[in-house]
Amino acid sequence: MGIDEIFEVIEREKIKFIRLQFTDINGILKNVEIPSNDLKRAFERGIMFDGSSIEGFVRINESDMYLKPDPATFAILPWTLEGQKSARIICDVYKYDGTPFEGDPRFRLRKVMEEAKELGFVPHTGPEVEFFLLPRKDNKPVFEFLDEGGYFDLLPVDIAEHLRSEVAVMLEEMGIDVEATHHEVAPSQHEVDFRYSNALSSADAVQTVKLVIKTLAVKNNLYATFMPKPFFGINGSGMHVHMSLLTSDLSENAFYDKEKDDISDIMRYFIGGLIKFARPITAITNPTVNSYKRLVPGYEAPVNVAWSLANRSALIRVPMARKMGTRLEYRAPDPSCNPYLAFTVLIKAGLIGIKEKIEPPMPVEENIYHMKEEEKGIFGIKLLPENLSEAINEMEGCEIIKEALGEHIFSKFIKMKRKEWREYSTFVSEWERRKYEII
Ligand code: GLN
Ligand code: MG
Ligand code: MG
Ligand code: MG
Repeated sequence: MGIDEIFEVIEREKIKFIRLQFTDINGILKNVEIPSNDLKRAFERGIMFDGSSIEGFVRINESDMYLKPDPATFAILPWTLEGQKSARIICDVYKYDGTPFEGDPRFRLRKVMEEAKELGFVPHTGPEVEFFLLPRKDNKPVFEFLDEGGYFDLLPVDIAEHLRSEVAVMLEEMGIDVEATHHEVAPSQHEVDFRYSNALSSADAVQTVKLVIKTLAVKNNLYATFMPKPFFGINGSGMHVHMSLLTSDLSENAFYDKEKDDISDIMRYFIGGLIKFARPITAITNPTVNSYKRLVPGYEAPVNVAWSLANRSALIRVPMARKMGTRLEYRAPDPSCNPYLAFTVLIKAGLIGIKEKIEPPMPVEENIYHMKEEEKGIFGIKLLPENLSEAINEMEGCEIIKEALGEHIFSKFIKMKRKEWREYSTFVSEWERRKYEII
């Protein structure tokens, strides 16, 4: 939407307040509300805020930062607050001197998109967001199931089903093209898929989708959680990311080779890059202690670094669709990741693959969960990191990720996550007490 049009809508819809949104390193959506009278100033000069209180932003002595709204992201919020309509705009973060803040996750994604553009590509992503809907008590989730439903189940019209269709309607109203919503494999688990778009607006959409789902859950006295593995012994929640590279004019898919009617060399190299950097990437796509409890055999989540043309146990799957639909599905990410940073490192790894013509290993068509260790050896299949600490160590040694994230986010992220790991590994759990009480 153009700026003039935005002001027309604000006038017509009598919108008094605008929420300026941005995302911290952890992927948490932040916002400041300004009266719509101030929006003109925000577009011209930005709105000042104190960056020192935002996770992973700046030190106290250089804390004045600016939010500059990106007009393309204007959307009216589909709910009212005290009867008042409000709108949101997603912002880019600038420093006091007027240059982009290198620690803004959205800026990192913009930068890698620029790098792709220089090669003649526009990266597109299509995430599938899974989550659990739980009962709510005293504003906290209760870890019990609301239903016994399974994959694609059509249950008698219940709260969750009603909520899913409400989510779809609201997202459409906010300009997000919902492709499907359905019940997932686990009880109380659901999925929302939206149409692929350029990676920046796709990351924006993930943030919006989570906000809408969480808000609607509260309105229905439920709790939506995107934590990767809320229940032991039950499928966790992933965020598979479908990826393709369109040509600059968006008319063709660079992942498709017309002559061969098959995947292109470009796509193969992109996969080569993803496979090469899969282990260090995992720190960003699966950034919590809990993430690694999902990445275990037997729950439809990947464990091995491999690619496949059909097999869903692989990290990367290439769906059957060809022509414009030619894409890969990267299955490790979970919805606890920061979508801007996750897309940044995934795209970066793929682009390196293209630049350096990295050949991926042979695709693996057998179910890898059932393969013996020696067989995996023949295929050269590595494992994804088994815990957050291992993933962070991998990431720390990876120059490519450092370049993609920039020094600021790279070092802040590692420091934060090390602390999180220490906190977790010194905590004494019920499981340990039960296991070791007789010693
Ligand atoms: N929930 C599974 C995961 O953790 C995926 C299930 C599916 O979409 N088939 O990735
Ligand atoms: Mg799906
Ligand atoms: Mg799914
Ligand atoms: Mg999928």
